[in-house]
Amino acid sequence: MRLPPVLSSTDAPVPGAIFEVMWRRTLLVGFLLAAPAVAQEPADQGNRRRERERLVDQYIAAAGIQDRATLKALRTVPRHEFVPAAEQARAYEDIPLPIGHGQTISQPAVVATMTELIRPRPGLRVLEVGTGSGYQAAVLAETGARVWTIEIFEALADQARTRLARLGYDRVTVRHGDGYAGWPEEAPFDAIVVTAAADSIPPALIEQLAPNGRLVMPIGAPDAYQALVLVQKDPRGRLSVREMLPVRFVPFLRGIR
Ligand code: SAH
Repeated sequence: MRLPPVLSSTDAPVPGAIFEVMWRRTLLVGFLLAAPAVAQEPADQGNRRRERERLVDQYIAAAGIQDRATLKALRTVPRHEFVPAAEQARAYEDIPLPIGHGQTISQPAVVATMTELIRPRPGLRVLEVGTGSGYQAAVLAETGARVWTIEIFEALADQARTRLARLGYDRVTVRHGDGYAGWPEEAPFDAIVVTAAADSIPPALIEQLAPNGRLVMPIGAPDAYQALVLVQKDPRGRLSVREMLPVRFVPFLRGIR
């Protein structure tokens, strides 16, 4: 298993330690079984589970994320499957990575924050604007949500759709289009997650938010820090807006690409 450089320092598991544990276990079942057992791969079979565990323990939980479903989703979704081959070694660092077309997969701590803010739970109907790699959509689906996600670049939408299907995320539906108009046919949504920054919230998204719904979106100028904003709609349709934390996102684009 290849560990990204930042994780291969002193606290990384030593291959010898795995061997030792397996060897002790095989002593219990007898020498004849020792050879196949020792020859086995480490338990995660290249799934890189232990790197995800470390990412969550060291950065996500440490950053104050407490929602159990969110933490579990971050421990489960194989982020390395959502980045280009050249970036896979760095997939479990807490950083955004390029995914082509000038776009990025968000930093895991930001994905976790946005997921926690919408209070994820099974059956929640979520609209995402800005599919990108499909990673945020997969994290949402992993919490049991049903996800509709829109991407403005056709090539990215196609790639994300194929990838999510291959990984078994059948609760996610990907559409190519401009998310400015939302997804009226599937509205209303219990939650809306926008992963590109604009100077205001597209009105259609506010309209398509259900009563008691939550919307998270970065608001501010491109190429600067933006405010991650949480909008809540009360049962009577009144809005409250809170600035949560500074973030840095790629710009919200218009049109079709
Ligand atoms: N959620 C993504 C992060 C992608 S970055 C992930 O987990 O990987 C933001 C994405 O929003 C980019 O892919 C960009 O192409 C897309 N985007 C920007 N403006 C958009 C718009 N108006 N409608 C839909 N997608 C948009």
